[in-house]
Amino acid sequence: MPKRYDVIVVGLGGMGSAAAYHLARRGRTVLGLEQFTAAHALGSSHGGTRIVRQAYFEDPAYVPLLLRAYDLWDEVRDLSGVELFTRTGGLYVGRPDTALVAGSRSAAREYGLAHDVLDATQIRDRYDFRVSDDEVAVLETHAGFARPELTVSTHLDLAARSGADLHFTEPVRSWSATRGGVRVETAAGDYEAGRLVLTAGAWAPSVVPDLGVPLEVERQVLFWFQPIEGAEAYEQFPIWIWEDPGGQQLYGFPAIDGPDGGTKLAFYRNGAATDPDHVDRHVRPDEVRFIQDYVQKRIPGLAATFLRAAACLYTNSPDLDFVVGPHPAHDNVVVAAGFSGHGFKFVPLMGEVLADLAERGTTRHPIGLFDPARFAG
Ligand SMILES: Cc1cc2nc3c(=O)[nH]c(=O)nc-3n(C[C@H](O)[C@H](O)[C@H](O)COP(=O)(O)OP(=O)(O)OC[C@H]3O[C@@H](n4cnc5c(N)ncnc54)[C@H](O)[C@@H]3O)c2cc1C
Repeated sequence: MPKRYDVIVVGLGGMGSAAAYHLARRGRTVLGLEQFTAAHALGSSHGGTRIVRQAYFEDPAYVPLLLRAYDLWDEVRDLSGVELFTRTGGLYVGRPDTALVAGSRSAAREYGLAHDVLDATQIRDRYDFRVSDDEVAVLETHAGFARPELTVSTHLDLAARSGADLHFTEPVRSWSATRGGVRVETAAGDYEAGRLVLTAGAWAPSVVPDLGVPLEVERQVLFWFQPIEGAEAYEQFPIWIWEDPGGQQLYGFPAIDGPDGGTKLAFYRNGAATDPDHVDRHVRPDEVRFIQDYVQKRIPGLAATFLRAAACLYTNSPDLDFVVGPHPAHDNVVVAAGFSGHGFKFVPLMGEVLADLAERGTTRHPIGLFDPARFAG
């Protein structure tokens, strides 16, 4: 008889690695199955850095979840001794009525999050940003960046230390659920468990085809540039997002790898639809030129020399809110998908939420916004 697990987790990227850790730490027997290697660069959780912030312009309903996420970021650091999340502050620039500035301010005010508001002169005095006179910035004190590959590998290490069985380069071919439990089939064999957690990222449309949510996978490019001068100043930068009057958001990070490592920049949401198994990973010269021209007009010294680029995948839900909860047709199957390009800062919290849902079918955290059934009918 094969070993029967309490829970099988399919997909050990950001969300799945954290779920496996929380479940194993609670004493559950866990099998984690991943189609690629640990902390690989073919999904959504690679590229060195991810913005972490609390003054959530997208919707203040995310803030209580982020307050708990911060506790858990610290807990994982304390348990592992690994610095996964670095606080740098966060600068959100634009006209006062942009979604970014208006939304961050109102979330910060509603939840009493530490922040300052800078006018155009103050922004120009402190940063090399060519803002126009009608632009302002929200400077959020407790924002920063997380390191995605290190976060995934640390959660995997902690899960294994708590007894989880983790199998890599073992793609799941199919799964089924009955009242008695779940069965999962891979090339290496069949496995059984009481519960199933599906955290397949950009592969969710094929792994959970009957979810009833039209998820769209989008190719997004990350760019690294060498600043022209004053690289030391860029090392001290906060993370930043700048929304132009057309609603396009550009964001960037401090130069975290010293003067030669360059600084990472990207647009938020301007990718093309793709399929995770046929992504064009080659970044074209016209894509590099476009962002370089855009940045040089606004932050002249930042994007002097192109260093490298990488493709990454967003998995967008129709309303860009996450899709997390019990599978509509199987109450012993939990799904977490559709993180729509803004999920990473929630990774430790999602581990706790998914462990709650797998154990009890419910969680104390306010995740009503993410109900998979919201698109039914
Ligand atoms: C360019 C870019 C920038 C981003 N910036 C930010 C940011 O600044 N801040 C932020 O909060 N978020 C950001 N995000 C979003 C965030 O990174 C994602 O929401 C998050 O990584 C999603 O995690 P996931 O676990 O759903 O997906 P992944 O980490 O990709 O994990 C899914 C895993 O499932 C595995 N899998 C799939 N199918 C199978 C199968 N059949 N069998 C076995 N394994 C399978 C995959 O191989 C993969 O490892 C960004 C994303 C990108 C691409």
